[in-house]
Amino acid sequence: MKISELLHDKKIRISCELFPPKLGSGLANVKEVVKEMAQLAPSYMSITYGATGGTSEYTVEIANEIKNVNHIPALAHLTCASSTKEKVHSVIGQLKEAGIENILALRGDLPKDADFPLPNQYKYASELIYDIKSQGDFCIGGACYPEGHPEAETMNEDLVHLKEKVDAGCDFLTTQMFFDNNIYYNFMYKILQKNICVPVVAGIMPVTRSSQLKQIVSLSGNMVPPRFKAIVDRFADNPAAMRQAGIAYATEQIIDLIANGVNHVHIYTMNKPDVAGEIFNNLSEIYVRN
Ligand code: FAD
Repeated sequence: MKISELLHDKKIRISCELFPPKLGSGLANVKEVVKEMAQLAPSYMSITYGATGGTSEYTVEIANEIKNVNHIPALAHLTCASSTKEKVHSVIGQLKEAGIENILALRGDLPKDADFPLPNQYKYASELIYDIKSQGDFCIGGACYPEGHPEAETMNEDLVHLKEKVDAGCDFLTTQMFFDNNIYYNFMYKILQKNICVPVVAGIMPVTRSSQLKQIVSLSGNMVPPRFKAIVDRFADNPAAMRQAGIAYATEQIIDLIANGVNHVHIYTMNKPDVAGEIFNNLSEIYVRN
């Protein structure tokens, strides 16, 4: 099923995210995680492409496991900055063969060498999106950054490029994680002013270890609100308490979003079905599986 169809009615949709294992290790474990996560009946599950230390080589296989073995709509991430166009075309072909209809099209991290992009590479996600559109009938998602992408000099510049990305053929957007919902609400006003009208799925990250937060802030430059900083300061040395408080904080964020009319939430569940399970439990009367 195409995710655009799921996002175009008024139902509450909650999705989960997984990352693939490193090459040669743990594929069976991740397939087990897919199974456990699927039992929570998320609206769809996404699988990253080479992020968080995993390898892109398994993304198609895990997307296939999500869709064709566990019968949950799958969203395969696909990055382009570290690949040639030929490699990207071959992955699109594999996705088509596996019947995966949804692709989250991303640029990915910039390669370290200065020659980027070579003539057979894409420079921005918008070029990749445009190309995917020409390769088949895919539903295409893109990333957006309520606090601005770290490379963008101004928020306005980032929004101008976001509009180009949507115009290239994005059917929906998913936000970078944020820890203060007002950042999301303000962002929604800003994108409306740019006439960006596709659904915007709110990305929520349950932070269950204090070290996770340092990593997130250094990678994405997220603002940490004082209320959340106090939690981390208070419970950093008590892992069980930090985990419980992190799950409660993410749950509260999701409930506040839904209460304010945001029906689409993506949880960065990071291969932790136990954490996802507790959040879904906390929402058992709010999120009706469908
Ligand atoms: P783009 O949309 O290309 O934007 C990158 C930068 O270029 C921005 O600053 C933008 O303003 C600027 N820009 C865009 N177009 C132009 C233009 N025409 N002229 C000048 N500047 C321009 N990474 C992974 O490696 N694997 C994953 O699976 C993955 N999943 C992600 C999922 C989500 C929901 C999010 C939010 C991020 C994910 N990332 C992933 C991280 C992502 O790859 C990085 O944030 C990357 O730096 C930017 O990717 P993008 O697709 O947003 O790039």
